[in-house]
Amino acid sequence: MIQPIPGIDPSVPPSGPGCVECDAAGGWWVHLRRCAQCGHVGCCDSSPSRHASAHAAETGHPFIQSYEPGEDWFWNFQTQQAVSGPELAAPTHHPIEQPVPGPAGRVPADWQRRIH
Ligand SMILES: [Zn+2]
Ligand SMILES: [Zn+2]
Repeated sequence: MIQPIPGIDPSVPPSGPGCVECDAAGGWWVHLRRCAQCGHVGCCDSSPSRHASAHAAETGHPFIQSYEPGEDWFWNFQTQQAVSGPELAAPTHHPIEQPVPGPAGRVPADWQRRIH
């Protein structure tokens, strides 16, 4: 039996296909990260708004998992280390057809100059 890890709830589905705050504001992102505790999907630290880190800072939820296809690593904000963890509720990545950066139609032509 796999011991539960405090701060990781494998039963919670992700909030949606895109960053919650960017979708609300019409923003865009480079890569997506998923909060392993509440399912919040936010944008990575290369993205203009860094909503995944902001969510962790606001809520104290310590773990994110990559929400990119083919990636299953977790990051622990408290220890600043990559860790492995359980399989989370599906889907475990954004839709394959969603471009990187994304989403389609909201990425400016000069996006490479706007990332961190
Ligand atoms: Zn965002
Ligand atoms: Zn969370």
